[in-house]
Amino acid sequence: MSKVDDLLAWLLPQCCVLCAGPGGRRLICAPCAADLPRIPVSAGAGTVFAPLAYEYPVDRLVQGAKFHQRLPYARALGELLAEALATRPAGPGTWPDVLVPVPLHERRLAARGYNQALEIARPVAGRLGVRLAPRLARRIVATAEQSGLSRAARRRNLRGAFTARDCRGLHVAVVDDVITTGSTVAALARALRQAGAASVEAWAVARTL
Ligand SMILES: [Zn+2]
Repeated sequence: MSKVDDLLAWLLPQCCVLCAGPGGRRLICAPCAADLPRIPVSAGAGTVFAPLAYEYPVDRLVQGAKFHQRLPYARALGELLAEALATRPAGPGTWPDVLVPVPLHERRLAARGYNQALEIARPVAGRLGVRLAPRLARRIVATAEQSGLSRAARRRNLRGAFTARDCRGLHVAVVDDVITTGSTVAALARALRQAGAASVEAWAVARTL
């Protein structure tokens, strides 16, 4: 997202991506946002934070962002995640040092033209004031699409899939669109810890229930 796009988005009112009604400066209007399937946040803050259920219309937004070149959907999802983090009942607490969007393999990145996890992470980094570090980790194995695989197959599929640069002492949050079995973020977290990360938590827009 360029500075010009940011400026235009600020100047021009947005249409809600769900109902096409006026969204103000948001991509999802307040009534539509209030209707989204939310997962109640448990008091004990775990290492995974995902505020929405992967159900309609969140699934459509994620699939649009991922497979149908709907870049504004990724931004809308990022805004929702940022909002949920900023207002989580456990309190904002201390934010991590860096955000690492789950990287795509370079071949898939070239085919898609963008990484939806990075586009989701941008508004989060902006809102929380946390540094975005998209090049801290790389996906070195072009894994098959995970959907449709069993949990064991996903884990096998992801063995050694990621590598990370030296991140000694850093508190990291990895950012993804949706968490299903958690095997992707677990594999990335492992690579980051091996590269010295002091802690790794996972933030996603949604998870499957
Ligand atoms: Zn709406």
